[in-house]
Amino acid sequence: MSPVNTRDRILRENRSRNDWTSVPKHGVIGVMRLGAVGEAVLNIVAANLQEILRVPVDILPARPAPEFAYNNNRKQYHAALILKKLAESSRPHPRILALVSVDLFIPVLTHVFGEAQMGGRAAVVSLHRLRQKEEGSRVSLDTFYERTVKVAIHEMAHTFDLVHCNQAECIMRFSSGTDDLDGIPLFFCEYCEAFLDDAYRRYEIQRLPD
Ligand SMILES: [Zn+2]
Ligand SMILES: [Zn+2]
Repeated sequence: MSPVNTRDRILRENRSRNDWTSVPKHGVIGVMRLGAVGEAVLNIVAANLQEILRVPVDILPARPAPEFAYNNNRKQYHAALILKKLAESSRPHPRILALVSVDLFIPVLTHVFGEAQMGGRAAVVSLHRLRQKEEGSRVSLDTFYERTVKVAIHEMAHTFDLVHCNQAECIMRFSSGTDDLDGIPLFFCEYCEAFLDDAYRRYEIQRLPD
């Protein structure tokens, strides 16, 4: 399955507004870029979150790069500090996802592609390592977009309490690198899908109609 494009999303949004009069004034997920992140990848992530998680997604205004999270020793950005700041955002969205182009870390790992607050509000995805193969050459734009979408959906699902999954064919499988990530599908297994529906009920989040 390939990522859907922005045009599909706009058509879908217009259709759902007409068909479903109880659509809230704001989406469930607000996505934004922090610093130098392209508009295309942001639009593709937003469209795919909406398509695969089946909740309305809004694109929020860009904000500056997260310099507050820079760690001088590691020359990387501390993911948890970014999550904390995002979680404090005054936006009405129950979930916030940020895309950054800087390299992220958490203290126990050399780097992370993304990080989320388990059962919390915020998630962050770094594009930094997704543009190249593990040996260093660049990947196609399609592969880059697909990887970014996978990490975004995986991290956002953590905010809905989903844990890592042992099923081979599931986006919640843990991936240790980009080669691994490329082998993970862009969908949930049936167990995780059911768990997500439960979480939506718990958090009183209304799914978009199919
Ligand atoms: Zn994970
Ligand atoms: Zn699963």
